[in-house]
Parts: sequence; C-alpha cells; structure tokens
Amino acid sequence: MSISVKGVTKLYGSQKALDGVSFEIAKGEIIGFIGPNGAGKSTMMKIITCYLPQTEGEVVVCGHDVVEDSMAVRRTVGYLPEHNPLYLEMYVKEYLGFIAEIHKVANARDRVAEMVEMTGLQLEQKKKIGTLSKGYRQRVGLAQALIHDPEVLILDEPTSGLDPNQLEEIRRLIKKVGEEKTVMLSTHIMQEVEAVCDRAIIIDQGKIVADDRVSEMQSKGIDETVIKVEFDQNVEEKELLGIEGVQSVRRVDGNVWILGAVTDTDIRPGVNQLAKEMGVAILTMQKEERSLEDVFKELTNS
Ligand code: ADP
Ligand code: MG
Repeated sequence: MSISVKGVTKLYGSQKALDGVSFEIAKGEIIGFIGPNGAGKSTMMKIITCYLPQTEGEVVVCGHDVVEDSMAVRRTVGYLPEHNPLYLEMYVKEYLGFIAEIHKVANARDRVAEMVEMTGLQLEQKKKIGTLSKGYRQRVGLAQALIHDPEVLILDEPTSGLDPNQLEEIRRLIKKVGEEKTVMLSTHIMQEVEAVCDRAIIIDQGKIVADDRVSEMQSKGIDETVIKVEFDQNVEEKELLGIEGVQSVRRVDGNVWILGAVTDTDIRPGVNQLAKEMGVAILTMQKEERSLEDVFKELTNS
C-alpha cells in the first residue's frame, strides 16, 4: 500500500475539517480526490505530506508513519501544494537546483536537466519564474515535486486556473508521470477525474462519501435509463407519462423532453408509437449518459 489513512480527524480550533477519514491507495494508482471547496482536500494532503499533524488517526506512507517517521515520508513523497508557491525572483534552473540540493539529490545537475526535459521546460529554464505563464509555473511545480524521484506524488488542484490548452498539457504530463508513480490529485472538476484517474475518492464536509473506480461510480445508483427527445411540436406531459415504462418526465426547454425509465426497459419504441398516433415528428432522440458530475452533485448536495 502506498498510502494508508485510518480514522483521521483534524480539528482547527473547534472546527472539524476532517472527520474519521479512512482510505487506502495502492502502488501505481492514480486517484482523484474530489470535493467542493472547504471539503478538507488540502488538509488531508498536508497531513499526508507532513505539513500538518492530524488530531486523531493514523497515516502511513510507503510503510512510514507521518508523525513517527516524517523524514522518511518526505523522502518518498513529492508535493505540489495548492497555489504552487514558487520563488518568482529565481531562474527556473537555479530554483530546481536549489530544491535538488535540499533533497540532497546525487548528480543534481543531471537530475535538473532530466526534469527540465521531462516537463518540457527547455526553452524556459533560463527565465525567471515570475515571467512564466501559469501553465509553465505548474510545470516547474511538477519538476520540483519530482526531483528526488519520489514513489508517491501529491498534487493539490494542479490544474486550477489554467486555460484549456495548458490544462490539456498538464493533464498529459500527470498521466505520463502516473505510469511510474502513485498519484493522488485533488480537484473540484469532475471531467479531470474522468480524464486522468483510475479511481475517485469523494469527500464532503470532512467525510468520505464515495470511493470507487471511476467507471463503477458512473454507473452507480443508476436505476434509470434516460432518454432525451425533441418533438417538432408541443406534446402534453400526461401523454408522455402514458408511455409504457416511463416513470419520470421533465421538459428541458421548448419541445425537448427528458424521459426517465426503469433500467432494462427500452421506451423508444413507445415514444415512436405515441408520436405516430399524435401525428408529431421526432426531431432527435438519444440515450443520455449519466456523468460523474451528476454522481458528485447527488453525493455532495451541491
Ligand atoms: P479544500 O481543500 O477541500 O477546499 P481545506 O482542507 O482547505 O478544504 O479546508 C477544510 C476546512 O477547514 C474549511 O472549512 C476551511 O475553512 C478550514 N481550514 C483550512 N485551513 C484552516 C486553518 N489553517 N485554520 C482554520 N481553518 C482552516
Ligand atoms: Mg484546497
């Protein structure tokens, strides 16, 4: 197990930021740690990376306890904190050399060159960090987190504030890195988890509300097949409810409707039949996928 969290509670004064959190992350997994703002994501990550002590519970990273053996944990963990704090006055290469020195990396020069190459910073390495775009600063943040070749990578909202192109590049980089490492990344963007992660852990108000493979989560709780249909003219709600198998009806807008049906019942022939009887044309009809976003909203009530 790369990360094992058992019954962790964190109090800030009287406020409970984490409340009995437990989960495990196996070696090589890429985990999405999702939750709304204030859910406790950053707090959990700070505990795993030894930046904050938990109030209660136990956290073990690659066999090392975060409280008893924090030096060993710091050696095995790479951390990209939220808001990626960097020394803006330093040059990229100089900064990475400085971080390599802190970690007492052997052959620091070669390792910095390797990281520059890996994160695509060749053209930026001689620039001041302060002059870089947000996307390139995140690359520096990733290079910094990877420089001591840690087994585990903790990335706190690594793509927040990036434009769509930068986002795509950083996600690709994380996926590449994830081929060789255990990665835990936090986000409040569901598509990110769908795009990058194997498994998702959803946290809300300091408690884990779901922990499952992304594919399982998407199909979890689905006891409904959803069909979106557009007619060329008005149709009454009660007519649609009369179709065999239909259990819910919602007008999306104009003549577009969302029809819910019990799983395993194909209501499309019934919709066709009704349209025929009423002399109404069907402009489009399609099955809708339930997205992870829907699951997230249901679980976190947000
Ligand atoms: P997330 O990263 O999911 O947005 P955080 O872990 O940052 O959530 O915060 C969880 C809760 O703990 C929030 O209600 C936040 O206001 C509170 N909190 C975080 N850091 C501190 C702190 N240093 N002092 C007091 N409260 C804090
Ligand atoms: Mg946070």
